[in-house]
Amino acid sequence: MNTDNSADNSENVSNSDTPCVVRIAPSPSGYLHVGTARTAIFNWLYARKRGGKFLIRIEDTDIERSESDLVQPILDALKWLGMESDEEIVFQSTRDELHRKYLAKLMDSGCAYRCFCSKEKLAAARELAMKEKRAPRYDRACAQFSAEEVKAKLEAGEASVIRISIPDGSTTYTDMVLGDITRENVEIEDFVVARANGRALYNFAVVVDDYEMGVTDVIRGNDHITNTFKQIHIYRALELPEPNFAHVPLLLRPDKRKISKRLGDKDVAEYGAEGILPQTMFNYLCLLGWSPKDGREVMKIAEIQEAFDIAGINKNNPVFDIQKLQAFNKDHIKMSPIEQLVSLIAPKMQIAGLITSDWLENPENRGYLETVIDLMRERLRVIDDFVISAGFFFGDNFDYDEKGDRKQFIPEAAERLTALANEFETKSVFDKESLEEALDTIAEKFEIKRAALIHPTRLAVSGLTVGPGLFDLLVTVGLEKTLVRMRKAVEYINSKKTEVSS
Ligand code: GLU
Repeated sequence: MNTDNSADNSENVSNSDTPCVVRIAPSPSGYLHVGTARTAIFNWLYARKRGGKFLIRIEDTDIERSESDLVQPILDALKWLGMESDEEIVFQSTRDELHRKYLAKLMDSGCAYRCFCSKEKLAAARELAMKEKRAPRYDRACAQFSAEEVKAKLEAGEASVIRISIPDGSTTYTDMVLGDITRENVEIEDFVVARANGRALYNFAVVVDDYEMGVTDVIRGNDHITNTFKQIHIYRALELPEPNFAHVPLLLRPDKRKISKRLGDKDVAEYGAEGILPQTMFNYLCLLGWSPKDGREVMKIAEIQEAFDIAGINKNNPVFDIQKLQAFNKDHIKMSPIEQLVSLIAPKMQIAGLITSDWLENPENRGYLETVIDLMRERLRVIDDFVISAGFFFGDNFDYDEKGDRKQFIPEAAERLTALANEFETKSVFDKESLEEALDTIAEKFEIKRAALIHPTRLAVSGLTVGPGLFDLLVTVGLEKTLVRMRKAVEYINSKKTEVSS
């Protein structure tokens, strides 16, 4: 049983014969936002479906932008969604030596060269290209140096970066989502793969790490397509096997702008704190860009695993809509295991001062909480709704809804509620049938509709004007409390009468 409030993704549906290794490679320069979470979900599903491995690599080489204290929140958010690395987590920053080893291999291959051009010279060339409305490209000036010239420059202490030589022609690869994609190599240019200090740059480190980690399939956002072409050239230069690539559509905000850390998107786990279940988030995110063949929407994680197929990922960028997420949450709350709901609701009830941990330890009380949750779950949009709409089951200290007070607690209601309470008291069993009988008797006696009793009774017992069926509500609250609350409401109505007449 899942007790840590994370999605229960333990069921492994594996039906393919291809072992695969996939990874999610977040950069810890912010929290895990919904876009990266969804990419992780696609990777995770792909691995589970094929009985493969799902790995996590933290891309923290860009040390200035990355913050080590953002790593744990990212891992926690992935865990909340039910995803953990099948092997030890890889930290890119610890692999400098390995990257350097492959850089040496690249230099030996003859597919790279040292570039001694100064920053100023490159900036001037870029400026000129912009002025002439050309795409800025490195002019390969340093590719012309002989081995002796390079040696001499190095001995003279001249700083140099490493550039990869991109051959002429064009490059095509088959994307698992987008099909064949071609780029002219001239667009890729001889890009830099290592800094003057000998450290590998992003694309090079990614290739080395993916290869060393045995990654067979790279599934990521379609904003990485340009990187993919660069990486393909690195694989080819190093004579390493290329993985399969799949680029998934990006998530958009309702204003159609791309969701990003900068555009105010929040930590995925924060949605959890706001009462979204992890399985809701998992379900909703994977439907943004993927759909099962039969068009189902609300699905359990095991069902998604069963139905997932990368071929079902479409090419359009979907919109992340918080209202839709909440609608999904409502459906998931209806079908969640009661233990999960208790574990999420109880802490919120404690914070609100409605229950204590001692109270919950008593099995009878826990059973009561479960009964109330079962009664209320149909109506919850987020977990926090429970505290607001079910607090009255746990204490008498509530105010009457103002509008309801004006509409239902009219002078006549005092007499009617008294009569109904007295009628309830005569019943030997306090169940739905006897309550209904009592209500009918009193409605007949006063020659009024049942609604004229139902609404003030609900307000008296719950303080609210909406909620579960009245009879279910009363049976759950119990006879004793029902009577106390009805009589307290009568007193209140009478006190209003006196105020008016004095
Ligand atoms: N670190 C990259 C990002 O956060 C991931 C790149 C990749 O998946 O190759 O977007």
